[in-house]
Amino acid sequence: MSDKYDVIVIGAGPAGYVCAIKAAQLGLKTACIEKWKNAEGKGVNGGTCLNVGCIPSKALLDSSYKYHDIDHGLKKHGIAVKELGLDVPAMIQRKADIVKQLTNGISGLFKANGVTSLFGKGKLLAGKKVEYTDNDGNVKTLEAEHVVIATGSIPINIPVSPVDNETIIDSTGALELQAVPERLGVIGAGVIGLELGSVWNRLGSKVILLEALPDFLAMMDKGIAREAQKILTKQGLEIRLSCRVTGSKVMDNGGKKEVLVTYQDKEGKEQQVTFDKLIVCVGRRPYTEGLLAPDCGVNTDERGFIYVNDNCATNAPGVWAVGDVVRGPMLAHKGSEEGVMVAERIAGHKTQMNYDIIPNVIYTHPEVASVGKTEEQLKQAGEPYKAGSFPFVASGRALAADEGEGMVKMIAHAETDRILGCHIVGPSAADLVQQAAIAMEFGSSAEDIGMMVFGHPTLSEAVHEAALAVNNHAIHIPNKRKK
Ligand code: FAD
Ligand code: NAD
Repeated sequence: MSDKYDVIVIGAGPAGYVCAIKAAQLGLKTACIEKWKNAEGKGVNGGTCLNVGCIPSKALLDSSYKYHDIDHGLKKHGIAVKELGLDVPAMIQRKADIVKQLTNGISGLFKANGVTSLFGKGKLLAGKKVEYTDNDGNVKTLEAEHVVIATGSIPINIPVSPVDNETIIDSTGALELQAVPERLGVIGAGVIGLELGSVWNRLGSKVILLEALPDFLAMMDKGIAREAQKILTKQGLEIRLSCRVTGSKVMDNGGKKEVLVTYQDKEGKEQQVTFDKLIVCVGRRPYTEGLLAPDCGVNTDERGFIYVNDNCATNAPGVWAVGDVVRGPMLAHKGSEEGVMVAERIAGHKTQMNYDIIPNVIYTHPEVASVGKTEEQLKQAGEPYKAGSFPFVASGRALAADEGEGMVKMIAHAETDRILGCHIVGPSAADLVQQAAIAMEFGSSAEDIGMMVFGHPTLSEAVHEAALAVNNHAIHIPNKRKK
């Protein structure tokens, strides 16, 4: 086969592999280069998302939830369980099996769609050439009409708590623990901290999260964040805000490693706390190491992201970039949609992506999900809005499932009634928020949703009622304001 392609994608995470499949479906001769190796040293597709991100974390969230629910949730249903056991290595192995199944699935999709899958490293050279080094070290120069960079992101390391992959770990290490740490520290009460903190909290760890910011989930709708903090704290997660870590010291305690963490609390006082394991999850940074030849013509911004315009074109003609390696939220689905947009634009379509409607979910239990603008953002922008909320405690379906915590908040424009945002903490929030996202894509008003028929009893009725509440028309809760 000739080494000239229509499209070469570098990176087979959700941004890159989706782009490659779409490009091939559009009749373009496409190759995708991926350097990830599994534990056996074999090349695998799927990137962070499938190997050490979205999927493995959700596998452990689901396993740990089942364990915790049997122990804590079944009694009130009248179900008694006499003996409950925990086999952490088996749980971790189940996660690994799912990862294997899904990463193999990508290779199958590549085959089915005619994408040439190349395992090894890609480096962008000048003139849309790509230097490809395979996993045996053989180097080849490939040529393409278009190159798509989709090399993703890696965890940020902080000098005050350097990851040693034993006592101080990152998210990848936290997905591989073979035993439940008694005392688990987490630096950063963001998405990863809350998800992986929840996993180990449910399995029995005493989890303390140290968060530098004074506000919990600062980017979320404040009312929803407050409610989420209350629920997660009740579950046993100890969230210490305004706490800045200043040092970590790994020590030997009678043959057992532990880590002494020093931090400044909200009064500025120095505090210390000892953990058996410490997860550092303070954000991720774009990954471009060894990727760009000095004369390749692609610019990066001051934070290291590859600079792209709204259509994901870099400043080098014929070179595109998608996913975590470019601006915007680091979310798998954001990267995948960018991948589709770029493939379609390469094929001559005028596809654009709507960056205003990207759902965002934290997979705690209950889930925290949002799409569109928050009240705080609208206030700041001076945009007139009205909001309606519906608590799950008033939902028959939620109560039947013992899921009465949380609420749905719907926000609409004060004059046009067009839905501007939806924020949920509650059961199946991830799926419920998508209903608002679909409505927003179609330019719906809150009244439009209010006029639709929702099945009963469903959790979706809470979305219906929140939309009704926007205009004081809720049925199953008292409306606060007079018409
Ligand atoms: P990546 O998935 O990082 O893939 C990039 C790929 O490029 C990698 O496979 C890498 O090996 C390869 N690569 C890099 N450089 C080269 C090179 N020079 N040559 C060849 N290959 C190269 N997002 C969600 O939307 N939902 C979630 O629930 C969620 N959960 C997460 C949980 C965790 C623990 C973590 C860490 C992340 C999570 N994310 C989640 C974020 C999500 O994983 C990322 O947003 C997503 O994987 C980014 O996709 P990407 O394709 O841009 O990059
Ligand atoms: P994050 O940005 O969500 O949270 C990091 C937190 O660490 C922030 O609250 C920040 O204030 C805090 N922090 C930073 N430096 C600190 C310090 N020195 N001491 C104490 N706190 C500090 O980042 P993350 O949790 O590492 O996740 C990285 C990215 O991965 C996320 O932004 C998200 O895009 C993606 N992700 C998504 C999901 C999902 O969609 N469910 C799940 C996991 C990860």
